[in-house]
Amino acid sequence: MAFEGLTARLQNVFGKLRGRGKLTEEDVNEAMREVRLALLEADVNFKVVKDFIAKVKEKAVGQEVLKSFTPGMVVVDIVNKELTELMGGTQAKLAQAGKPPTVVLMAGLQGAGKTTLTGKLANLLQKQNHKPLLVAGDIYRPAAIKQLQVLGEQIGTPVFTLGNQVSPVEIAKQGVQHAKDNGNDYVLIDTAGRLQIDEALMEEIQNIHAAVKPDEVLLVVDAMTGQEAVNVAQSFHEKLALTGVVLTKLDGDTRGGAALSVKAVTGCPIKFASTGEKIDQLEPFHPDRMASRILGMGDMLSLIEKAQANIDADKAAEMERKMRTADFTLEDFLEQMEQVRKMGPLDQLLDMMPGMGKIKNMPNFKVDEKQIARTEAIVKSMTRNEKLKPDIINFSRRKRIAAGSGTTVADVNRLLRQFEDMKKMMKQFSSMMGPGGKGPKGG
Ligand code: GDP
Repeated sequence: MAFEGLTARLQNVFGKLRGRGKLTEEDVNEAMREVRLALLEADVNFKVVKDFIAKVKEKAVGQEVLKSFTPGMVVVDIVNKELTELMGGTQAKLAQAGKPPTVVLMAGLQGAGKTTLTGKLANLLQKQNHKPLLVAGDIYRPAAIKQLQVLGEQIGTPVFTLGNQVSPVEIAKQGVQHAKDNGNDYVLIDTAGRLQIDEALMEEIQNIHAAVKPDEVLLVVDAMTGQEAVNVAQSFHEKLALTGVVLTKLDGDTRGGAALSVKAVTGCPIKFASTGEKIDQLEPFHPDRMASRILGMGDMLSLIEKAQANIDADKAAEMERKMRTADFTLEDFLEQMEQVRKMGPLDQLLDMMPGMGKIKNMPNFKVDEKQIARTEAIVKSMTRNEKLKPDIINFSRRKRIAAGSGTTVADVNRLLRQFEDMKKMMKQFSSMMGPGGKGPKGG
């Protein structure tokens, strides 16, 4: 995941600050020198770093901060706020035209993730009850039209194409008309990318722009390219009046500098972040949540939203009841595991939990998706009776379950032990919470 290096370094700097009751101006200056290095190493544009440090220093060396009871915390808070500002302050939403359809034009270099993003955005819009139309405007890359059609089919979104013999300007125009005729309220136009910015590419997209007058021009940039992403954004912005940027491949091993520089350099807000190849791996970009994630303070809000989107509320309530009454079986255990997995790859979930990003980087902590798959296989190899009454699982049953799930008896033993521990913990917890789970006993 992006920002790992930066987060680790910043936590180190702030850990030192937090530990002290009093701070001098020199302590703050020293910390800011380290923050400066950390940002530069994360590939943040040097001018952006300079301004950022100046702003933080100006606020942090004030007498009130240094005299406060928890000066370290105050400094972290100032950095958090400035990071949020740097990335745009508040969330920049996708445009919505007064009169539908809203026309969204995609721009970007080849391989940035434009076509993928077009499909992801349609998927997101559909979840919000919109009726998008995809327009296949990339007639040069041989597989681009097909790729969009496959995506459209996967999510059930119509795709408008005139093949590759008609000009992209004409395709875009007719696509918008098609949306009007068919009641689509969003038109997402995929366009051709090139390996590098060239005149012909720019001219073509400018012509499309002039023909369909988009409400939103989204530049798709690959966060893995670091500073280059910022340069690309700047060149496009000069020619095309962008309204927003989408950062892709934030799941990769990027140092994160692009996310931190692009708004400051171009003035264009980041509207979405793409975090994987799968169709639902797209998130609205929230500067405040991203800042808190970078500082290792977690992003509980995004986590809760993910949970709400993916977990059935009735099921969650039922599960909660079972946990309280210790009525929890191995079947529930499995179901709960599946629910959590629906929320996304575990290591991405951990990144959103406060402090967890750090734990994840510890040498002996590994998010082992295989271990979860093994657990699932074991539980699934049990009979219903065994799942409800694990006490009956004797040695010969353990052997059978291990064989059925392709694991070992030791694996089965481990799982049963874990489950028992969990039940014990729940019992303790529910007796602590008192009847109904409303609060501590007698409290
Ligand atoms: P285009 O040329 O700009 O249309 O790029 P594509 O949409 O074809 O994407 C290029 C490659 O990047 C494909 O293999 C995508 O699956 C991959 N890709 C796109 N977005 C992401 C992302 O957020 N994370 C990762 N890991 N891969 C991505």
